[in-house]
Amino acid sequence: MNFYNSMTHAKESFKPMKDNRVRLYTCGPTVYNFAHIGNFRAYTFEDVLRRVIKFNGCEITQVMNLTDVDDKTIRGAIEQGIALKEFTAPFIQAFFDDLKVLNIESAEVYPAATDHIPEMIDLISKLFDKGLAYKSDDGSVYFSVGKLPGYGKLAHLDLTMLRAGARVSQDEYEKESYGDFALWKGWDEKDGDVCWDSPWGKGRPGWHLECSAMAMKYLGESFDLHTGGIDNLFPHHENEIAQAEGATGKPFVNMWMHCAHLRVNGEKMSKSLGNFFTLRELMDKGWSGREIRYVLINGNYRQPLNFTFDALDAARTSLARVDECMSALGDKAGGAEQGCIPEWATKQDLNFANAVNDDLNIPEAFAAMFTLIRETNSALQNDLLSGEETQAITELFNKFDTVLGVINFERRPPSTEIPVEVQALVEARSQARIDKNWMESDRIRDEISALGWSIRDSKDGQKVKKL
Ligand SMILES: [Zn+2]
Repeated sequence: MNFYNSMTHAKESFKPMKDNRVRLYTCGPTVYNFAHIGNFRAYTFEDVLRRVIKFNGCEITQVMNLTDVDDKTIRGAIEQGIALKEFTAPFIQAFFDDLKVLNIESAEVYPAATDHIPEMIDLISKLFDKGLAYKSDDGSVYFSVGKLPGYGKLAHLDLTMLRAGARVSQDEYEKESYGDFALWKGWDEKDGDVCWDSPWGKGRPGWHLECSAMAMKYLGESFDLHTGGIDNLFPHHENEIAQAEGATGKPFVNMWMHCAHLRVNGEKMSKSLGNFFTLRELMDKGWSGREIRYVLINGNYRQPLNFTFDALDAARTSLARVDECMSALGDKAGGAEQGCIPEWATKQDLNFANAVNDDLNIPEAFAAMFTLIRETNSALQNDLLSGEETQAITELFNKFDTVLGVINFERRPPSTEIPVEVQALVEARSQARIDKNWMESDRIRDEISALGWSIRDSKDGQKVKKL
């Protein structure tokens, strides 16, 4: 496996740090709204990453947090005049429902921030002990970025820009305005009744702190992989590193991976442009989770992905080709003998593995899959496959699907709708047979087969099948 490490800006060979188990932390949703397809681009990227790690025979422990307390969730709860948990619960449920729709595998742990306040307080105490935290006169606790050597190494910050004593209290801010960031936000009236006791007074954790504390609780002080959308790189991930490494003195994460933005019809997704979609909205328009997943994963994750309705249309056509091939294989599969696989199929097996292990090159992996489909169709049409070979090729598709998750998921039998012109010929042939006009019957059979359909006479009448 070779992955692009955002920290070093280079593709590196990836191996688990310990035994055969990869520990992966993926920043999860802030549950203040329904997730949109831009969010799901990140979650499908992480799903493919997880599947590729397993494809290579490793085991995995993935942790995805639920941010259920931050500036946005508190604002939402207060606007609706309900308790924070009551506000976030339906969005958490919707998030899990959406993951199923997109055939995203479950992480091993989904810790919620509000269930881990003691761990966060403990982390801040360690930062005080190291002289990296201080309490400000607004009742909040800040991280002193100037005191941590190496701060800014992930985002490659220009450290000469730091103004002495500059502080940012919001969770999200620009690179240019970086400064000491909030670990613990002292209670103010905008927080309503959302607060916890701490040695520094009533308040709540900062967003960045949540992830450091939960990642280390479930994955240890140093672990293999941490991912997120490119938006998370700064300040969120930079600050996660500062908190964790500041407290432990150990390297926090071995490799960082980030996926690029999603654009819709070539433009940045925004409510005002009318191109802002949640998964639910796309499904209401008649697109399936399988089709949406196909579009979301079919790109280089480090390049912006342009999401269009044309791409969804193309996905529908491509998936119909997949279904037809799988169904034709299913009709023919069988044989208990040890199957040997044709050489042309082995070649695509290799191409597929090389593609996914080359920094998750899914377009190349799909190319291998479609080459295999083309060659399989041709071999089936020329009756060149034994039952055992058919079985072996089916298993190869199933192996590809452990990464892609679109071959067997929601697979449909190919459309059996018989076109009107074929139907008319079938009826004419039926009459010819009643009239015992065998020449006419054979002539119509040829005409039907020229249209791509076969006809077979059985005791229940004529059976029509697509060739
Ligand atoms: Zn995070």
